[in-house]
Amino acid sequence: MFSLFRKLWSSLGCWLLATRGISCEALTRLLIDYVDGTMLGGDRARLDSHFTDCPNCFAMMRTYRQTIDLSREISCDSMPSEIRLRLKRFLNEKMWERYPPL
Ligand SMILES: [Zn+2]
Repeated sequence: MFSLFRKLWSSLGCWLLATRGISCEALTRLLIDYVDGTMLGGDRARLDSHFTDCPNCFAMMRTYRQTIDLSREISCDSMPSEIRLRLKRFLNEKMWERYPPL
């Protein structure tokens, strides 16, 4: 009974959001343009309005943005040669264990 109520409530919420601007599902498809700043003003305002009314989508947008920001901070330093050799030996050993020569 409770799950039915939750589904109905969720459907009602989605319908209200859809009639007021954009649905949660449609928003997920537009999120990358919103976060990277390439979305045009009118669409951006619709998403801003949705975020005001929908804490789940707001949290998703913040997480998405933080993930992108953190991934940009990852450095591309080269691996020290000693570690590269050890990793190569380790992977070769694992490969021979899993796929022994015939
Ligand atoms: Zn939403």
